[in-house]
Amino acid sequence: MKDCIFCKIIDGEIPSEKVYESETVLAFKDINPQAPVHILVIPKMHIESLNDLTEDNIGAAAEIMLVVKQLAAEFNLQNGYRVVTNIGENGGQTVHHLHFHILGGEKLTEKMC
Ligand code: 5GP
Ligand code: ZN
Repeated sequence: MKDCIFCKIIDGEIPSEKVYESETVLAFKDINPQAPVHILVIPKMHIESLNDLTEDNIGAAAEIMLVVKQLAAEFNLQNGYRVVTNIGENGGQTVHHLHFHILGGEKLTEKMC
């Protein structure tokens, strides 16, 4: 989608540090990491947020969950990690292309917001 930063990353118009890619899913390091490991996992299809998941596009989200698990193992997060998806203004979503943050590599704060 035009003017979507993550669609531009998918198209290679904006560089990123990719850590996983398939036909439908891309994962790359967050540009402003909030933890020692901070990866974003996104569907290649432009879906605005979790609120826009439907029976037709849920396959991409399901694949993302498996990619999250695989990346957690690859990045040695066996002691645990957090997965976050922000939705809409009150949720703090700044990029309106569905993405799941993987945060880990240290003991995370118990405070979730
Ligand atoms: P949100 O606040 O929407 O949940 O998260 C958006 C995330 O995207 C933020 O953590 C931000 O650092 C990251 N981000 C924004 N622009 C870019 C970019 O151009 N490249 C990368 N790698 N991450 C980005
Ligand atoms: Zn997009």
